[in-house]
Amino acid sequence: MDIEFTEEEKMLQDMVGRLAREKIAPMLPELNKQDTFSPELLDLLKKNGLLAILVPEEFGGPGGGVVSACIVGEELSKVYPSALAILGGHYLATEFIAVGGSKEIHEKYLTRISEGYTLVTTSLTEPEAGSDAAAIKTRAIRDGDYYVINGVKQFTSNAGVAELHCTFAVTDPEKGYGGISAFIVESDTDGLIVGKVEDMMGMRGVHSAQLIYEDVRVSKDNMVGPEGKGFYIAMEGFDHSRPIIGAQAVGLAQGAFDHAVRYAKERVTFGKPIAQHQAIQFMLADMATQIEAARALVYKTAVMCDTKAKDASKFASMSKYFASDMAMKVTTDAVQIFGGYGYMKDYPVESFMRDAKLTQLYDGTNQIHRMVVVSNILK
Ligand SMILES: Cc1cc2nc3c(=O)[nH]c(=O)nc-3n(C[C@H](O)[C@H](O)[C@H](O)COP(=O)(O)OP(=O)(O)OC[C@H]3O[C@@H](n4cnc5c(N)ncnc54)[C@H](O)[C@@H]3O)c2cc1C
Repeated sequence: MDIEFTEEEKMLQDMVGRLAREKIAPMLPELNKQDTFSPELLDLLKKNGLLAILVPEEFGGPGGGVVSACIVGEELSKVYPSALAILGGHYLATEFIAVGGSKEIHEKYLTRISEGYTLVTTSLTEPEAGSDAAAIKTRAIRDGDYYVINGVKQFTSNAGVAELHCTFAVTDPEKGYGGISAFIVESDTDGLIVGKVEDMMGMRGVHSAQLIYEDVRVSKDNMVGPEGKGFYIAMEGFDHSRPIIGAQAVGLAQGAFDHAVRYAKERVTFGKPIAQHQAIQFMLADMATQIEAARALVYKTAVMCDTKAKDASKFASMSKYFASDMAMKVTTDAVQIFGGYGYMKDYPVESFMRDAKLTQLYDGTNQIHRMVVVSNILK
């Protein structure tokens, strides 16, 4: 299956690629020095319309699909993978709202997101419910025209930064995953507290924190989808976010590879550039081949998602775990090509390696994705 980008997608690729190279790359010394979330970077993403990508045209957005989001993910991650980690949870929440939201929710919130300045979190994971998402304990109890939410969400990307949260809570504990519902919660609602901010191995530009719900009152009109359908909406949305994480993995692997190629041509040992040693050449050949294989799978999957192909869910898991395992291998090899210098923060490849690790963990771990693939094969 050949993937040929449309003219609009090519323009998006060009625009985001230039943004990454010309605007974000010069910020890297400062971003790396601060080593934390950067409001300036988020502003840049907002001003360039990247928050609105998935909003349908009827609500004022460009109507981009998974292919467009993958292009954004790959281009940003070649330079600064945290930029896509900021957008990833937001794209997922936009999908939840688009897939499950009522006409009123679409008009109220998708229109707001389309203006490009509203960031939304996906708030599903809890301290005792990660891979087993149906085990969440956060409760939403009906009280007249409101639901009252209590519980704790773990590792929410952009908690404390975003204006809205797409939160999952149990409305009927008797029904298992059929008793989970989704809500949109404004970040300034009374009782919503930002808890522990995480100190992470990589993706240092992402503000990941706990969200604590203490008697948070949310209008019943802010429920996304019918009561009890939250888990189904989540699973449908995740099918679309997984290739985007795959694209992030492809982008960051490409970024590390490009640095490794340049370094291999410059670094001299035994009287010649290391790029002329066959051991290094074979590593470069393998890295390039693995990146291309992952890229092909990611974009094939993105097209399947956009065209609602039958096997899209299986491919979403395949592309996410294949691309992220590839990124871990390629970035580790990039560090190897830099020798001892690759281990130092003065050079760019160690941060790509730390960033790569997260792509194997979030949006479902790679063990869980292998389980999804094999269950599709055996059913
Ligand atoms: C930086 C970061 C950002 C994140 N952002 C968000 C966010 O914005 N929103 C959100 O909701 N979540 C977010 N997450 C949560 C993320 O999706 C979870 O961490 C992930 O799903 C794994 O859950 P867990 O950490 O509880 O691991 P666990 O579920 O406890 O798993 C521990 C280990 O056991 C393995 N395992 C578990 N069950 C099985 C099984 N049945 N068979 C085989 N192996 C198994 C796992 O693969 C893993 O290796 C984020 C996480 C991180 C680290």
